[in-house]
Amino acid sequence: MHKELGIGFGAALIIFLAVSGYNIGPLILLAVVAGALYYLMRVKGLVKNFAVSEGGGGNPISFTDVGGQAAAIKELSEALDFIKNYRFIRHLGIRPIKGILLTGPPGTGKTMLARAAAGYTDAIFASASGSEFVEMYAGVGAQRVRKLFQSAREEAQKATKSNAIVFIDEIDVLGGRRGKVTNHLEYDQTLNQLLVEMDGIKVDDAVNLLVIAATNRADLLDPALLRPGRFDRQVRVELPDRDGRLEIIRLHTRNKPLAKDVDLAAIARETFGFSGAHLESLANEAAILAMREHLEVISHRHFVESVEKVLLGNRLDRRPTQEELQRVAVHETGHALLSESARPGSVTALTVTPRGNALGYFRQKTEDDKYLYTQEQLENQLSVLLAGAVAEEIALGSRSTGATNDFDQAVGIAETIVRAGMSELGVVSVEELPDDIRHQVISRVLKVQEERVKEYLATRRGLLVRVADRVLSEERLSGEEFRALLQESA
Ligand code: ADP
Ligand code: MG
Ligand code: ZN
Repeated sequence: MHKELGIGFGAALIIFLAVSGYNIGPLILLAVVAGALYYLMRVKGLVKNFAVSEGGGGNPISFTDVGGQAAAIKELSEALDFIKNYRFIRHLGIRPIKGILLTGPPGTGKTMLARAAAGYTDAIFASASGSEFVEMYAGVGAQRVRKLFQSAREEAQKATKSNAIVFIDEIDVLGGRRGKVTNHLEYDQTLNQLLVEMDGIKVDDAVNLLVIAATNRADLLDPALLRPGRFDRQVRVELPDRDGRLEIIRLHTRNKPLAKDVDLAAIARETFGFSGAHLESLANEAAILAMREHLEVISHRHFVESVEKVLLGNRLDRRPTQEELQRVAVHETGHALLSESARPGSVTALTVTPRGNALGYFRQKTEDDKYLYTQEQLENQLSVLLAGAVAEEIALGSRSTGATNDFDQAVGIAETIVRAGMSELGVVSVEELPDDIRHQVISRVLKVQEERVKEYLATRRGLLVRVADRVLSEERLSGEEFRALLQESA
């Protein structure tokens, strides 16, 4: 459409200039050159070549090179085992996995995992980044997608490999919600082409093709990408916890001479919020400092200095203060204590770990899937939700905004209690209750539980603080470790 308009306009201009007695020779030449360029870009896809390599690249990476990502590696390799066993899959008529989406913050090892996946499945690795598909010219992006898939297939056949992995980094750039991200049609065409390619993958293709994509903004993706038969596996790649950071620092100091005084565990403790990439750069900076001092080995102080350097250099924004982390530990411990009191054995994990927007979390066994909840169960759920804020108040003297989400959920449960006729009002139609009455009765339901939680935690303040301190220093307690602490203190 734009093309026709442009040509029409250009022609009109040339005729106008010719009529006005202007020398149009150079202009016509310009038009021809522009046309040729356009043809090249449009039809030849800008002569773009993608990186295609065998078994994850010249510098092969294996899962053992990726530290602190045990859970992600387990999930990923389970999915990959499907591909390795494709004969069975075919035989049993199972729908093959076509796409795996790696989601998580930058520098956590998503690209490494994709490369390792290629090594693991003995696959050709063809990679591109979402931004490489974005062009000014309509159709170029779509063409590049087609070419990427095509070259993955061809290279695999050339290398007589039965597997090929197409890796698309920053998929959010091209896979954003259609018609929403920009007013640019280009994105839509590119995304459509990707969907077409994925839908075209068949069980009996000569080359088994798997698409792995990475993003740190899964929330931006077009839902069409997440449908079954497309990216139907999602693997979260989180920032590493303390033990994970230790593993990663060990990996990146494998080839470096360390002085006797180096305490990598201490460095791991001091680097809350660091990604794998930050830790790699930390180890590198430490070595550079040692080199500047003409030393043969890297000392502990070099690492300590580098922590500061990496922090400054990377503007690790939103790095929480020690006080904030302590508050989070207290908050989560509050949840956990009430959960354990209502349902012994229910706490499965308790952490201060950056995850999404939260700085910590506590996990409990879900109650077996229920159709019905008794009043007691609902009230227990309420008490667990309220315990975070109450714990902050009891241990630290004040509450924080960290409980907002808890309260939203608590209000929902309180409403259910009223709706189910379990409140002081008995059986009522919640819709027909005047606003102020509804508000009052919900507040009272919450208040009763809040008082109960306050009493419970106030008599256990010492325990609350002790457990929170331990969570803070360990960053993570398992359910068993948590219960052992309770036993000790009993
Ligand atoms: P992402 O794709 O998640 O942004 P990358 O895989 O590109 O992260 O990681 C960039 C670099 O950071 C890697 O080359 C590696 O040196 C280091 N790195 C990141 N995560 C890890 C990890 N989990 N273990 C070891 N090194 C890591
Ligand atoms: Mg990457
Ligand atoms: Zn909470």
